[in-house]
Amino acid sequence: MAKIAFIGLGNMGGPMAANLVKAGHSVTGFDLVEASREAARANGVEIKTTGAAAVADAEAVITMLLNGQMVLNVYAELAAMARHGALFIDCSTIDVSAARGAHAIADDHDHVSLDCPVSGGIAGAKDGTLTMMAGGSPEAFARAEPLLKAMGERIVHCGPQGTGQAAKICNNLMLGISMLGVSEAFLLAERLGLSEQVLFDLATSKSGLSRTLVKYLPVPGPVPSSPANHGFTPGFTSALMQKDLKLAQNEAQRTSTTTPLGTLAAQLYALFNTNGNAAKDFSAIINMLRGTEKP
Ligand code: NAD
Repeated sequence: MAKIAFIGLGNMGGPMAANLVKAGHSVTGFDLVEASREAARANGVEIKTTGAAAVADAEAVITMLLNGQMVLNVYAELAAMARHGALFIDCSTIDVSAARGAHAIADDHDHVSLDCPVSGGIAGAKDGTLTMMAGGSPEAFARAEPLLKAMGERIVHCGPQGTGQAAKICNNLMLGISMLGVSEAFLLAERLGLSEQVLFDLATSKSGLSRTLVKYLPVPGPVPSSPANHGFTPGFTSALMQKDLKLAQNEAQRTSTTTPLGTLAAQLYALFNTNGNAAKDFSAIINMLRGTEKP
């Protein structure tokens, strides 16, 4: 069993570290926030007083932080403190450029590294059912796979460094646009007197079929587990959808890729969130389109 350091024990990192402990690994950890440290300690993580102390003896260092700058700062601080040849895995969702910057820091210190963002949300992190999208060398992936299996159920090696983040960003670009499309169709159906159940039954057996429809349907009724039946409690917050759409826009600009629907989706989610909706499930955006939620 491996000695793992886990940096960033928040909503996602806390339960992911707990699953590594459950799988029998020895996990040291650090977070800036005391409540996160205490929750992780209660789940069997050996809490250290600094990140440097947490990584000192670790074979693998896993980070789960909010943004690219935080990841770069932590890599800049900790790469020199870690064991020679340690495996660095960053599970945060960040832009591809920052991910490549983090790989470069790890490379400079002769570590191996993976970018490995996840999907499946806090529930997936708790249940160990995350989808994990890894970018890095085959050697890094082979070393990481047994650890990733303790935290996720679908582990995908997407390609070289940066492609894990590319997979996450491109997937969520589709998801954000798709949610707006499904919302528009169900609103139009409402105004045309077509029941949501009839449209749902038809669309799921026709070309309208998508995971947005069968998992996150933004109207109550046909999909009892969808957030629309539970006051739009996330799920996946509108704040995180805005973040991921912004990352997609940054990458689209950097690579001169034309993404007009992505641009519009990013603007709509930004508008929705400025009025206090950021903590709702991302499917709640249907209420802004309906006009019952102020933009
Ligand atoms: P969070 O804010 O709950 O956790 C981040 C943690 O990092 C915080 O506890 C913070 O104190 C800690 N931190 C920041 N700088 C640190 C440092 N220098 N050293 C130690 N700890 C430090 O965020 P989260 O919801 O866990 O999200 C983490 C990442 O996962 C984000 O990139 C997010 O986009 C991604 N993600 C989140 C979800 C979700 O549903 N929450 C789903 C998929 C992906």
